[in-house]
Amino acid sequence: MIEHSFAQDNFKGLTIMDDLQLTEHRSFIERLVGRHITARVKLVPWKAELGGKLGQAHWGSPTELPLILHPECITVAEIEQSLFELALRGRVTGNPKLMEHADEIGSSEQYLEHLVLHEVAHIKNNWRQDRETDCDLWVYAEMHGET
Ligand SMILES: [Zn+2]
Repeated sequence: MIEHSFAQDNFKGLTIMDDLQLTEHRSFIERLVGRHITARVKLVPWKAELGGKLGQAHWGSPTELPLILHPECITVAEIEQSLFELALRGRVTGNPKLMEHADEIGSSEQYLEHLVLHEVAHIKNNWRQDRETDCDLWVYAEMHGET
């Protein structure tokens, strides 16, 4: 069970899935990112810019900070589809923690924490796009206070 995650502590009592307007959660996102890495956050109006994905991480260069991108808005249907895919990957790859994690995310704020931390994991650990499961297991540990 997720008990003292960042979202849990910042949005007490919220346990519903609702469409997410990330523009309203910018400071939450920036504070969450800032706990782990120094990076810029950009919210884009068109999901096509992210190749249909809900998040993207760009590594920095010696002169530029890393960049985390998310769409400005994410619908409940997109959250549910994403959690379904997470659970499915857990099943296919034999990672019950991923299935458990997909199942226990019960509010859109918790989902947002998961989503942001996933991109943080890419940058912080220098894990490329083929390390999706490693990123999600890192998020799982983070949201369960195992780190
Ligand atoms: Zn990823």
